[in-house]
Amino acid sequence: DYKPDAVISPVPATIGDPTQKDTPQNHSSVLYHQLRQKPLNIVGGRGSYLVTDSGQEILDATCGAAVACLGYGDSRVHEAIMEQLQKVPYCYSLYFTNSAAEELSQILVDSTGGKLSRAFIVSSGTEAVEASLKMAVQYYMELPVPQPQRCNFIARKQSYHGNTLGSLSVGHHVGRRALYEKVLAKNVHHVSQCYPYREMKDGETVEAYVARLAQELEDKFQQLGPDTVCAFVAETMTGTTLGCVPPLPGYLKAMKEVCERHGALLILDEVMCGIGRSGTLHAWEQEGVVPDLQTMAKGLGAGYAPIAALLVNQHVVDTLTRGTGAFSHSQTYQGHPVSCAAACRVQKIIQEDNLLVNVREMGEYLGQLLHETFEANPHVGDIRGRGLFWALEFVQNKETKEPYPPSEAIAWTVHKTGLKPEYSISLMPGNGGIDGISGDHICLAPPYNSTRAEIEMIVDRASRVIQEVLG
Ligand code: PMP
Repeated sequence: DYKPDAVISPVPATIGDPTQKDTPQNHSSVLYHQLRQKPLNIVGGRGSYLVTDSGQEILDATCGAAVACLGYGDSRVHEAIMEQLQKVPYCYSLYFTNSAAEELSQILVDSTGGKLSRAFIVSSGTEAVEASLKMAVQYYMELPVPQPQRCNFIARKQSYHGNTLGSLSVGHHVGRRALYEKVLAKNVHHVSQCYPYREMKDGETVEAYVARLAQELEDKFQQLGPDTVCAFVAETMTGTTLGCVPPLPGYLKAMKEVCERHGALLILDEVMCGIGRSGTLHAWEQEGVVPDLQTMAKGLGAGYAPIAALLVNQHVVDTLTRGTGAFSHSQTYQGHPVSCAAACRVQKIIQEDNLLVNVREMGEYLGQLLHETFEANPHVGDIRGRGLFWALEFVQNKETKEPYPPSEAIAWTVHKTGLKPEYSISLMPGNGGIDGISGDHICLAPPYNSTRAEIEMIVDRASRVIQEVLG
C-alpha cells in the first residue's frame, strides 16, 4: 500500500530563494530535484540509528532537527505514552486541565528555579513563538495603564522562528520569506545577529562588538519610537540559519538592558537550543539573563510526541491575571495529555540519567575532535558550538571567507552524500547565514546519551563525506 508520492514534500528553505530558482546566484530547481528526489523511507529506529525500508542503518548525527535527544526506542517513554493512552488520550483544554499537562508545567517551572512561573503547552515550535508574540501584545493591552501603541517587534536578521505568517514575519530567512513577502507583517523590524565569524570587525574587541550591537538595537528603538516597541525576539543560541552560534559573553545582557530601558519585553526562542542542547536545561542560564517569555520545543518531547511550550515570567502572569484573567488564545491540541505524558517522562530521563553532564562532556569532546579534524581544512571556515550543538561553516576561500555560490547547494550536497550507504550518516544542512541565501554550513546535534565511540564515529564519517564533496 506504500505510496511514496502521497506525502507533500516540504521545500527546504536552506536551498535559497524559490522565486529566483534558475538564476546562477541561486539554487536551480533542477539541482533541487536531483538532491531531493525520493527521500529515504524510515521504517525503524534504535539508539542513535534510523533504519530505512531497505535495511540501511543511518547514524543520526542531528536527532532529526535537534529533536530526538534520547535517540530512538526508549521503552520508558513508550510505557509512559501507553499508560496515558489507557487513562485518557485527549481532553479539551478550554474546558478541562489534565494531570500530565499540570505535571509537565510544574517540571518546567521548577527547572527555572521559579524564575519563570507558568507554562503554556502547544504542539510545535511555531505555535509557541506565535503564542509568545500574542502574549506580549496582550500584556501591554492589560497593564494597569494600557500601552496599545506598543505594536512593533524587533527581531534579528538571518533568523528563523517558524513558518506561519506571524513567526515567518519575525524570522528573517530570505529563502523562506520570498514567496510570502507581500503578506508578512510590516510591524517587525530586524537588527544584526551576533555573528562574530563574519560580522566582528578586524581588531574589534568582544566588548566593543557587543556595545555596537546594543547601540544598533537602541537606535532601532529610537527610530521606531521607544514606547512603540512591544518586544525584542532572539534565539539564545542561533540554530538553523547561522548554524550553532552561541551568544558572545555579555551580548544578551546588553540586549536585555536596552529592552528594560524602554519597557519592552525580551522573548528568547529556545525551540532548538533549549532543553539541554546547549549544556544547560535552558540556554539563557549561561548568559545571566532571564527572559520575559521563553519558547522551547524540540528536546521537550524528544520526538516521541509533538510538543512545545511557552514559559512566562511572573510579572506577565500577574498582568494577565489582573486583566482578562487568562491568555486570550487557545488551540485544540493545547496541553495534549499524551504529548505531555511523553514529555514528562523525557524530562525525568534527562534528570535520572544525568544527561546534561553527558551533553557537556560529550559536547566538549565533539568540539575538540572537530577542531582537530577540520582546523586545517581549507574549506572549513569556522567551527563553533556549545553543548551537543556544533556547526562547520564551509567557504571557498578561508582567507577571504568567500562562500560557495548558492547554486552549488553545498550543504545539501553534503547531507545527501552522507546518506550514501558507504557513509550512512545524517548531517543537518543549512545556509542563509550571510545574506539569507548564501553561506553553507552543517550542524551536528547528536543525542544527549551519545557515547565517546559514537562521537568519534560522527566526526570520522562527517570528515569522509566532506572530503568527497569538497576535496
Ligand atoms: N524557532 C526556532 C529557533 C526553530 O529552530 C524552529 C524550528 N527549526 C522553530 C522556531 C519552529 O519550530 P517548528 O518547526 O516546531 O514549528
